[in-house]
Amino acid sequence: MSNLNGSQPGNNGQAKGQPALRVIPLGGLHEIGKNTCVFEYGDDLMLVDAGLAFPSDGMHGVNVVLPDTSYLRENQKRIRGMIVTHGHEDHIGGIPHHLKNFNIPIIYGPRLALSILTGKMEEAGVMDRTILQTVSPREVVKVGQHFSVEFIRNTHSMADSYTLAITTPAGVIVFTGDFKFDHTPVDGEHFDIARLAHYGEKGVLCLFSDSTNAELPGFCPPERSVFPHLDRHISQAEGRVIITTFASSIHRVSMILELALKNGRKVGLLGRSMLNVIAKARELGYMRAPDELFVPIKQIRDLPDRETLLLMTGSQGEPLAALSRISRGEHPQVQVKNSDTIIFSASPIPGNTISVVNTIDKLMMLGAKVVYGKGEGIHVSGHSFQEDHKLMLALARPKFFVPVHGEHRMLVAHAKTAQSMGVPADHTLIIDNGDVVELTPDSIRKGDPVKAGIELLDASRNGIVDARVLKERQQLAEDGVITLLAVITTDGVMAAPPRVNIRGVVTTADARKLSIWAEREITWVLENRWSQLSRNTGGKAPDVDWVGVQREVELGLQRRLRRELQVEPLIICLVQPAPAGTPAYKGRADAEPDNRPAPRGRREVGRDGGREAGRELSRELVRDPARVAAAAPAPAAAAAPEAKDSAPSADEAELSGRTRRRRSAAVAG
Ligand SMILES: [Zn+2]
Ligand SMILES: [Zn+2]
Repeated sequence: MSNLNGSQPGNNGQAKGQPALRVIPLGGLHEIGKNTCVFEYGDDLMLVDAGLAFPSDGMHGVNVVLPDTSYLRENQKRIRGMIVTHGHEDHIGGIPHHLKNFNIPIIYGPRLALSILTGKMEEAGVMDRTILQTVSPREVVKVGQHFSVEFIRNTHSMADSYTLAITTPAGVIVFTGDFKFDHTPVDGEHFDIARLAHYGEKGVLCLFSDSTNAELPGFCPPERSVFPHLDRHISQAEGRVIITTFASSIHRVSMILELALKNGRKVGLLGRSMLNVIAKARELGYMRAPDELFVPIKQIRDLPDRETLLLMTGSQGEPLAALSRISRGEHPQVQVKNSDTIIFSASPIPGNTISVVNTIDKLMMLGAKVVYGKGEGIHVSGHSFQEDHKLMLALARPKFFVPVHGEHRMLVAHAKTAQSMGVPADHTLIIDNGDVVELTPDSIRKGDPVKAGIELLDASRNGIVDARVLKERQQLAEDGVITLLAVITTDGVMAAPPRVNIRGVVTTADARKLSIWAEREITWVLENRWSQLSRNTGGKAPDVDWVGVQREVELGLQRRLRRELQVEPLIICLVQPAPAGTPAYKGRADAEPDNRPAPRGRREVGRDGGREAGRELSRELVRDPARVAAAAPAPAAAAAPEAKDSAPSADEAELSGRTRRRRSAAVAG
């Protein structure tokens, strides 16, 4: 008997000697997007899909959201290949990025998906990093030693989509991919239900099923059902028809082209993805439309409005998409007319709702008739509802069940549906990204999770935006930045008033007040923390942890601003060291009674004399507050060459300030 994981002979029960099949989703759970799933058995690792998600509000400067792929990078030697179910962005969009980071020897997938993927890989310059292998319905491919995968044709909003039957040493897994049961598919490609039933009959160990619409009762309406509604709106339109939908909704686009032809309208296409996907789909025969139907956008203006249909991107209110630009009056070729009928043949993905309704408002305000929303029958989902889920469960008859592709409540609803079909609750797992599903022929359990999370890509700069950078951008965007320059001698004395600069901070406090607060923080740090932050080396000057000083001042000021002004700007403290013996700046921090509660309960510590001198100075400054903000500290360090040996230069201090800023932002987060 083979003993794959090296366990001791004599273990009773053959299953005990076998490794478990491990299924690890790295994305796509508790969210819609970036579907990425790992299958592992023994030494073989196989990927199923690798999608991306789009950034939510507040992810400043982020174009693309990817799953954390540390696990794949660490295990890249074991990656035997990848399976692609269909060509939607949330299933293939991550692949070009991943190919830059780890090796995927071969990718099997449907022709349309791989054709779209080729375009993305060429753009990313990674065409030579892998082999793309097209598959046909019912084709079986072998990945590594332990996986053989059969592609079962399914129906979905995208053409050429598949459900997978994955045969492993532990048993057969049915991985639905995105699906609905559409018995009258627009392209005539029917769901291969017979093949699904064949696997159900033979015995399915576990079903991993799409949960997107698990909360919706009934059956998902067929794609064809939107045809008469679109037809009505298009035929009744007096002027131009403008339609927006997902470029990747091949069937919808096909029907729109068919309707344009039927209603005697020429089609102008706007938006890069719309042009690309239609070109690919026509080239591969997934979409039939005569060349004469299409007119370049520059010429379409010469046609009568009643003979014009514009098909464009922007159904999700994406700021740079064609329709959004038109709604803002920023499109060079198309301006809205009163006679226009604008049709939203898509529903907003959760998270995009606000930008979609804003776009609709703007278009209406420009005078157009806008057709949108559920009641119009102009959009149906590409994902199964509850009754479809039941049909899938009935066909696959799985021993175990794991709902995937959905937010948490959808997964819970889907698990309930399975239980209503007789799948025992303890045969169902609700999992999160990074969870490990361990399957043996007679058990399912959660193993120790692997690292999962997100990687944010700043595509314009091709870099990863980590959580710290994002936090800093959020602080900058929402609360602005305060910089603070302090001059401190190597023996721990403030040598000049701190100079404060404020950018983008909305506050009642002015630079003078902030400068006084900064002074208090510096004074406190020098009085209470100096002994820990400086080490007397016995030489002429102590060894000072300037970064630590900066951090203490930043954190103190941050706390005060949060408490007293309810703002959290990014605070950057730079310390310019001055030689020991530089005359102390006496300070004016006591000019205003500090009657707020003392931060960290420390305010009373170490207050000393110098109060009178401070008051004197501050009275003068109150008369001329501008002086405080403007007063530049003396470049003390430069003036005293002998101090250079022990004290960092201003540049060094600035550098460490920059490093520190990052760390302290993380601490504050
Ligand atoms: Zn899809
Ligand atoms: Zn999907």
